[in-house]
Amino acid sequence: SARYNSNTSGVRERTLIAVKPDGVHRRLIGQIIQRFEMRGFQLVGLKMLRVSEELLSQHYTSLCKKPFYPSLLHYMTSGPVVAMVWEGHNVVRSSRMLVGDTNPTQALPGTIRGDFSVHISRNVIHASDSVEVAQKEIALWFQSSELIEWECCDHDNLYEF
Ligand code: GDP
Ligand code: MG
Repeated sequence: SARYNSNTSGVRERTLIAVKPDGVHRRLIGQIIQRFEMRGFQLVGLKMLRVSEELLSQHYTSLCKKPFYPSLLHYMTSGPVVAMVWEGHNVVRSSRMLVGDTNPTQALPGTIRGDFSVHISRNVIHASDSVEVAQKEIALWFQSSELIEWECCDHDNLYEF
């Protein structure tokens, strides 16, 4: 659309959010989606899937040498995941704030991890940590045909551009 290409840096930024298997099992999908909607972000992709070790090895390339990597693989393949792409102004940075610190002990109350988790090995949700990483992760998890470009009816109440 015109807005997508116009001079509105960051407005149509996108990020990959995934409810991890513990979040799905604990029936947190709805509450997690609600927090992103409440804030004013726009959902442009959504699916439930079982993630393969192949996808995870590409997703977590920087962690593959860590001692906890085998247990991370086991955790992430222990049940279905709900993957989403959210769009909006500075959504990558804002999502990391909504999600909270990687370690739930450090995550502030009010954040998703700070409200719903106690240990780093079961921290409920994934959020891309930079714009560049978000683009890579979205391309890894979603086909472009699975991403929906649409105009939210409240755009002019969230932005002045
Ligand atoms: P994130 O971007 O906040 O998710 O954190 P990282 O990219 O550093 O790590 C990815 C994921 O690996 C985390 O969300 C945790 O699920 C897991 N992880 C990170 N550090 C540890 C750890 O020390 N122990 C265990 N068991 N899992 C960890
Ligand atoms: Mg990370």
